[in-house]
Amino acid sequence: MFSLQDKSALVTGASRGIGRAIALAFARQGARVMLCARTQERLEAVAAEIAAVGGEALVYPLDVREETAAEAAVQRAVEAFGRLDILVNNAGVTRDGLLVRMSAEDWQAVLETNLTAAFYLSRAAARVMMRQRFGRIINITSVVGLMGNAGQANYAASKAGLIGLTKSLARELGRRGVTVNAIAPGFIETDMTAVLTPSQREGILGTIALGAFGAPEDVAAAACYLASDEARYVTGHVLQVDGGMRL
Ligand code: NAP
Repeated sequence: MFSLQDKSALVTGASRGIGRAIALAFARQGARVMLCARTQERLEAVAAEIAAVGGEALVYPLDVREETAAEAAVQRAVEAFGRLDILVNNAGVTRDGLLVRMSAEDWQAVLETNLTAAFYLSRAAARVMMRQRFGRIINITSVVGLMGNAGQANYAASKAGLIGLTKSLARELGRRGVTVNAIAPGFIETDMTAVLTPSQREGILGTIALGAFGAPEDVAAAACYLASDEARYVTGHVLQVDGGMRL
C-alpha cells in the first residue's frame, strides 16, 4: 500500500525536519525525489541518506521566495525525471512577535516563504500536472492556521492562507486528475520547535490528547498516503497530524 514506485516528487524544505522525513519516506516508497532548500550541504546529506537506502535523489538549492527559481526548479525536475507527480510545499519559517511590535519585514518574510512560494511552485507544477492528467500537491500548513495563536499573526495568516489556496486549487484542478490537500501538524520535534522554553513546551503538552509531541515521521506517513494512488478520491482536505491538539 501507498507505493510511490515510478513517481517523481519535489519537496521544499527538504534539508531538515519534516521536509527531510517526507523526502526519505517518499524515496523508501520508491519515488525519485528532488530536494529543495537554501542550504546545499544539508541537502547533500539528505541525498546521501536516500542513496544509502537505495533511493534516488536530486539536490536543487533554491530560495522559494524567488518566482523565477520556482519555475526553474519544476522545469529541472521534469528534465531529470521526465515528469513531476508530487509537489510538497513544506518550506516554512516563523518570525514570532505580538502584533503591536511586529515589523512589516517580519510579516512579509513569513508570508512570502510560507504562502507566496507555494503559489509560485503550485502554478509551475500545475501546468505540468494538468498536461499529465495526474498530480498530487500537498501543502504543509499548521493547526495554528486553523486556531490562530497569540504572537504568531504572520505565521497563522500564512498557514490559513495555505488552506484557502489548497481548497481553491482542489476545485480548479480536480477534473484534470490533480488532487490538492494540506497537512496540519500540531507540535512536531524539529529545529522550528526547539527554540521553545521548557515552560512553553509543558503548556503545549497539556493541550495534546495523546500526551506527546509528534515526530517528523508522523507527518511523512500522512504525506505518503496523500501522495499515493490510494488517496485518489481525497482532495481539498486538511489532515491534522496533531495528536489531538485541536479536536
Ligand atoms: P525546520 O526544521 O525549521 O525546517 C524548515 C525547512 O524550510 C528547512 O529545510 C529550511 O531549509 C527550509 N526553508 C526555510 N526558508 C526557506 C526558503 N526561503 N527557501 C527554501 N527553503 C527554505 O521546520 P519544520 O519544523 O521541519 O517545518 C516544516 C514545515 O512544517 C513548515 O512549513 C512549518 O511551518 C510546518 N509546521 C511545523 C510544525 C512543527 O511543530 N515543527 C508544526 C506545524 C507546521 P534552509 O534553511 O536550508 O533553506
